[in-house]
Amino acid sequence: MGKQSDALFQRAQELIPGGVNSPVRAYRGVGGTPLFIEQAQGSRIFDVDNLQYIDCVGSWGPMILGHGHRYVVEAVKKAATKGFSFGAPTAGEVELAEMVVAAVPSIEMVRLVSSGTEATMSALRLARAATGRDKIMKFDGGYHGHVDSLLVKAGSGGATFNVPDSAGVPKQVAELTISVPYNDLEAVRAAMSDEVAAIIVEPVAGNMGCVPPQKGFLEGLRAICDEFGALLILDEVMTGFRVAYGGAQSLYGIRPDITTLGKVIGGGMPIGAYGASRELMKLVSPLGPMYQAGTLSGNPVAVTAGRATLSVLKNSSIYADLEERSSEFEAGVRAAAEKHGVPITFNRVGSMWTLFFTEGPVVDFESANRSNREKFARFFHLMLAEGVYLPPSQLEAAFFSAAHAKKDIHQLIERVDRSLKKVAWEFEK
Ligand SMILES: *Cc1c(COP(=O)(O)O)cnc(C)c1O
Repeated sequence: MGKQSDALFQRAQELIPGGVNSPVRAYRGVGGTPLFIEQAQGSRIFDVDNLQYIDCVGSWGPMILGHGHRYVVEAVKKAATKGFSFGAPTAGEVELAEMVVAAVPSIEMVRLVSSGTEATMSALRLARAATGRDKIMKFDGGYHGHVDSLLVKAGSGGATFNVPDSAGVPKQVAELTISVPYNDLEAVRAAMSDEVAAIIVEPVAGNMGCVPPQKGFLEGLRAICDEFGALLILDEVMTGFRVAYGGAQSLYGIRPDITTLGKVIGGGMPIGAYGASRELMKLVSPLGPMYQAGTLSGNPVAVTAGRATLSVLKNSSIYADLEERSSEFEAGVRAAAEKHGVPITFNRVGSMWTLFFTEGPVVDFESANRSNREKFARFFHLMLAEGVYLPPSQLEAAFFSAAHAKKDIHQLIERVDRSLKKVAWEFEK
């Protein structure tokens, strides 16, 4: 868009693959030059050309309090002056672990890592260690980080660029992964066997766009896992502390064997975590034979950002407010789409949402892929020109934060209305 972003992108492309450090940022899903960001505050994000946008990406999920929340910033500043990393235990880690265990019903013990990818990678290893089995079941369009075993029919960037199966994953590894359609218990049952160590699932899918679990789906997975002696891994890297303080498992009343966390628990700094019952976590080194470690694991500054974020979220009305504002936005979008005659599907769980350009319903990867990508790309750029920063792919979830005030929501609805009007004019004649 702007001059500075264009110039930086030119330089970046010479040095960094695609000019970005994570593929979807490159805007290949929508075309054009990615914005280089200078700073963000509250619900607003500013690029290096000093243009302002309402941010609906929220760093892909972590920024549930909005950017630069004062309490979190002050806590992080204080922690930074004490030292960046010690490679030794700290009180903050114990406190964050206590907060996670108190919040997430199924977690009795937790191990901190530095990313969501590390969390899911470790969760698979734990499931394999516990069951003595090698196979893993996942869902088409489900994304669980860039773990070898999980880059099979993966969502997010892989799906956006039509490479759901990554090169460089050994065939023998990929063969251990079974992938079936989301929300399809029949398919799960048909593919299940006593060789499967675990089913890993996003309890609300967010990496093929937002796709909620249908009634009975998660319960069905629980029952099938129990029947076959497999473990159920809820990948709550996106949904943990996002759809409810206790994550999707508290919202839907599902008890997984292993939970993975990330994003919100770091408040924007790099953290991941995996947790389970005491019995399972006793397998993790140094208590047990499953090895997993990290130089920067439990980093004191990152842990501080996480603790501060969770303590603001806890006992607050934030989730109720997010639901109210998000549902007002949903109603506004639906009304605009209807008014202008643009067929859409709006999927949402709390503050996590996707506007799909298809009649729908969108219940799995296949139906998500029926969306009209040209329409999405046009809508994305119209919204960007209106000053709205959306995820640059149809197959990603957008997020609201506690900093999105009613006024922001009303502005967003007006801008969606104008953009859909143009989309209708260009595509629906
Ligand atoms: C983002 C995400 C991951 C990966 O987390 P990173 O911190 O990007 O490695 C894993 N699982 C889900 C469900 C995610 O949304």
